Amino acid sequence: MTFAATVLTLYPEMFPGPLGHSLAGRALADGTWSLDCVQIRDFATDKHRSVDDTPAGGGAGMVLRADVLAAAVDHVADGRPILAMTPRGAPLTQARVRALAQGSGVIVLCGRFEGFDERLFEARPAIEQVSVGDIVLSGGEPAALMLLDACIRLLPGVMGAPLSGAEESFEDDLLEYPHYTRPNLWEGRAIPEVLRSGDHAKIAAWRKRMAEDHTRLRRPDLWERHKGARGEPASGARQKKDQAHEPD
Ligand code: SAH
Repeated sequence: MTFAATVLTLYPEMFPGPLGHSLAGRALADGTWSLDCVQIRDFATDKHRSVDDTPAGGGAGMVLRADVLAAAVDHVADGRPILAMTPRGAPLTQARVRALAQGSGVIVLCGRFEGFDERLFEARPAIEQVSVGDIVLSGGEPAALMLLDACIRLLPGVMGAPLSGAEESFEDDLLEYPHYTRPNLWEGRAIPEVLRSGDHAKIAAWRKRMAEDHTRLRRPDLWERHKGARGEPASGARQKKDQAHEPD
């Protein structure tokens, strides 16, 4: 089954861009996924083909018109999830990406300027607002490329070793353990001895400990979720629970 990606954008020439290369490029060439770019401006109705207007209430920049965007979205809507790229959206997660990659494809709406007229989302509640991080890009196109890249690499046959996805960062709410490769000694630094021991159980235990340590130190938010998913109390809750269970 082909994963069908449709991108609504004012800059269709930005696609496939990086997705035309390497793994994603090969998968596009062999039909694992398809790409259809739709020019939002084609749905403008006035003689200037305008897609934006000044913000109601004043302020800098321009806002994308709800009527033009809705016409573009309605033209391509076919039951696939519709994701609008916006810093005001829900943070994109690996779990959401995995679910999307298991579906028939995705419709991605790219913003520009100050963003979208809010009434678009009220009138088309199927549109999911998604953010790729707490940063502000100049347009939704790089965000769409990120989203599609993350989906495509999970499609069957795209990654060389099918297992390499299962142990990665964010699976199980953990960051991945660190990697090393030859040369064994570089600038006086040796690859950790355990990785050269050939003892697979010891290596697995070391990797698990490293993944946990890195996650706890770098991403306390993920660490709390990881512990929560395993039924362990979050650190705040633990204290209360321990107190509650103290013997009389
Ligand atoms: N004024 C808006 C930012 C607009 S940036 C605000 O403060 O929220 C212009 C466009 O870039 C947005 O419409 C959106 O499509 C895209 N964009 C910017 N940052 C993004 C992010 N973190 N995630 C997803 N899309 C983003």
